[in-house]
Amino acid sequence: MPHPEERKPSIMLVDDDPTVIQVLSKALTAIGRLRFATSGAVALRLALDDPPDVMLLDAEMPGMTGFELLEAMRAAPSLAEVPVIFVTSRSDDETEAAGLALGAADFIAKPIRPSIVAARVRTQLRLKTALDRLRSLASTDGLTHLSNRRLLDQTLSKEWLRALRTQRALSLLMIDIDHFKRFNDVYGHLQGDQALIAVANVLQAQAVRPGDCVARYGGEEFVVVLPDTDQTGARVVAAAIHDAVRQAAIAHSGSDRGTLSVSVGIASFDSLSNGWSGLPPKDLSESSDQTVEKLLAVADSALYAAKHGGRARSEFAQIHWPFPAL
Ligand code: GH3
Ligand code: MG
Ligand code: MG
Ligand code: MG
Repeated sequence: MPHPEERKPSIMLVDDDPTVIQVLSKALTAIGRLRFATSGAVALRLALDDPPDVMLLDAEMPGMTGFELLEAMRAAPSLAEVPVIFVTSRSDDETEAAGLALGAADFIAKPIRPSIVAARVRTQLRLKTALDRLRSLASTDGLTHLSNRRLLDQTLSKEWLRALRTQRALSLLMIDIDHFKRFNDVYGHLQGDQALIAVANVLQAQAVRPGDCVARYGGEEFVVVLPDTDQTGARVVAAAIHDAVRQAAIAHSGSDRGTLSVSVGIASFDSLSNGWSGLPPKDLSESSDQTVEKLLAVADSALYAAKHGGRARSEFAQIHWPFPAL
């Protein structure tokens, strides 16, 4: 359980005038955890370190102005969606239009009226909460609460480009439940759904490094993306998955083993891959849709081999780059 203070929204106050920060803090202290910065550069560093839920930003500051800070935030993926309320003594249309064009959420005029500031910050926090919930729904599988196909595609294409650029290994696992049609036939669809949730939980518990992504790929198929992981590491994770599924001991009378099992296709891009060194930069422009499809196809070929090798096992396929013609 997080400490109650940690669940309070985080509010960042940025103004070169400490008196303004004092007035704002007094108005907002009951609403959230407050952090301060008296320059744009420091604010950017603090925000990148731990993105706030809302930022109150002085438009006019020496050095990096509020506008420049907002522009920098919009360019940083982790800060692009942070609602920013401009606090400004300039009430001309031009200033306001410039701020809105950059995506400012609201404007508050100086001198500061505490009750108005508090009300407007509350509104932005409510919007932020609702948007966060929508964003998470849009990327989550309803049954298992794993990442959905959409988020998997985004993650895989991002991690692939990162692997190429930084020459870090990348592995993925494609996991398919064995004889699941029979499971549904014997135990019914509802029990089938419970088994899917149980397998999802097992996968989530085995892929726990930051950056690991566990997704429901289709009906009873899952994909695990393992950044910074070579073949050896991926095999360890796959073995842990088989062990954990065995330990879950979900009865399956339609399987030779008597309990539910999975087959795993492992695919790795690592130092044993063609194209590991000397990547031609122009190849990075290949469309990411195709890239994701091709990466998944390699894992799928390994999964196919695992099924044909008798199920409840893993097989491996090396990812080569550029992708061989299909
Ligand atoms: P194999 O070992 O070759 O993978 O056999 P299988 O029966 O698991 O493979 P197949 O792909 O033929 O069947 C997948 C079955 O998974 C079809 C359907 O009965 C079941 N399934 C797919 N999605 C869901 C779901 O959301 N809920 C439930 N309960 N079952 C599902
Ligand atoms: Mg100022
Ligand atoms: Mg299947
Ligand atoms: Mg199956």
